[in-house]
Amino acid sequence: MNKEMICDVAIVGAGSAGVAAAIAAAKNGAKTLLIESSSVIGGDLLSGLPIDGCRTTAGEWIVGGVFRELLDLCEELGGYIGSIYDRRNIWVVMVNPRIMGFAVLKLLAKYDVELLPYTQVDSVVRADGSLTKLMGKSKTDNYEITAKQYIDCTGDGDVAYLCDVPYEMGDENGELQPMTMVFQIRNIHPQEVLSFVLEHPENCGLGENPNSPKTAKELAQELYDLGIPKVFFSGNGPLMKKAIEEGELHSCSMMAFNPNATDLSVVTVNTTRLVTKDCTSADVLGTSMLELVEQVENAYRFIKKYIPGCQDAILDGVAPRLGVRESRRILGEYYLTGEEVSGGVKREDGICKGGHEVDIHGKGEKHVRKTIKNAGSYDIPFGCLIPRGMNNLLMAGRCLSADRVAHSSARVMGTCMGMGQAAGTAAAMCARENIRPGQLEIGQLREILRQQGAILDGTD
Ligand SMILES: Cc1cc2nc3c(=O)[nH]c(=O)nc-3n(C[C@H](O)[C@H](O)[C@H](O)COP(=O)(O)OP(=O)(O)OC[C@H]3O[C@@H](n4cnc5c(N)ncnc54)[C@H](O)[C@@H]3O)c2cc1C
Repeated sequence: MNKEMICDVAIVGAGSAGVAAAIAAAKNGAKTLLIESSSVIGGDLLSGLPIDGCRTTAGEWIVGGVFRELLDLCEELGGYIGSIYDRRNIWVVMVNPRIMGFAVLKLLAKYDVELLPYTQVDSVVRADGSLTKLMGKSKTDNYEITAKQYIDCTGDGDVAYLCDVPYEMGDENGELQPMTMVFQIRNIHPQEVLSFVLEHPENCGLGENPNSPKTAKELAQELYDLGIPKVFFSGNGPLMKKAIEEGELHSCSMMAFNPNATDLSVVTVNTTRLVTKDCTSADVLGTSMLELVEQVENAYRFIKKYIPGCQDAILDGVAPRLGVRESRRILGEYYLTGEEVSGGVKREDGICKGGHEVDIHGKGEKHVRKTIKNAGSYDIPFGCLIPRGMNNLLMAGRCLSADRVAHSSARVMGTCMGMGQAAGTAAAMCARENIRPGQLEIGQLREILRQQGAILDGTD
């Protein structure tokens, strides 16, 4: 059946950026529609991975607003595990992903966001830099969606791509950061794992914060005392290195344990790696999923055999979707660079902050990582969210306008939610005032964002 839908703000993609954008747009009075091709509403917020980028390496909170509201609700529902310094160099926020998934739906319902899951946006109608319609297909219906303002939160920048906005993808050889099948194990004994970390800190990523004088041993002791198994086993440490050399384990830079249940015996594991030149085509994604199964099995066997405290671990499934770190970077009115990010540059047109390290996973054991200057934050200018040449399209999340280095930091969930809140708020303002994003008074946008809890000031 052909169906028409009309709204003020249409957001495509319900990952961390899209959810924040939808809540912000609706909160600011826009009739808001959120379109998602799958049934996973919340993206990697439901993966069991920690939410990064919400605090600087020094510990200061840099994302508030919609993210804070979601976190508070998650806590109210018993799904907030806590925020800790991982003793390597980042602060993380840990949640129970199933409860987070419910909290996301509850908040979308609270703000009357209209939700269109199972609907893939596959074409657009546009005229002179203005998007007139989105065309979406579900199993039973063809949708024609008309809005005053649109936001591309597809991660891959699909809407901007369909509008022929130029983009970049990958490194100089077209290679992307690896994809990962995240998996979960349960029934680990956290204190035993931490006692192994304490005895063998050489196997772990510890003490990489240039601003902290503490030794790996001291930090391992702190983790042990804390009792939270947020551990990075390092690909260069003797334990993993030997297993990689002997073919027991795939080649990778790390194996991260991320607690995601209040009893701390359940962790998601981020370790599998597969580099391709395309993360957008279904056949590549399908082949990759099947290829990664073997890495999951080997990693699970490795964990049980070699990591004390994991001998009784039970494989507890894989994340709801394959993890894609990088695809199209859509070019926007402003292009954020790695130098600005690493240098912690602040700007008067900043609409949210990033603070996650530069974090480019590579093939095998390659991994480029760099802490932000003074363990602080950088600003993301509004222009990074305006696709070049478009009058009524914004973007937020992983497809922001940035070079590869800047992207590697800004792609994390906390920062995506900050961008999403800014884009949703801006789109609602533009829809109400009938203006283009480029005409928006940024000072006014920043003021509203601040009033609604976003953090734009402070930090080193
Ligand atoms: C393995 C891995 C580990 C990571 N670890 C962490 C971590 O520990 N902490 C952290 O904070 N971040 C981590 N990240 C990064 C982070 O999870 C993502 O970059 C972030 O969630 C991206 O959010 P997004 O909203 O921009 O995009 P996505 O979450 O990808 O959301 C985009 C949504 O759009 C939908 N969509 C796409 N195209 C269309 C279309 N044409 N029509 C309709 N819907 C569409 C997709 O189905 C998807 O739901 C990790 C990423 C990976 C892959």
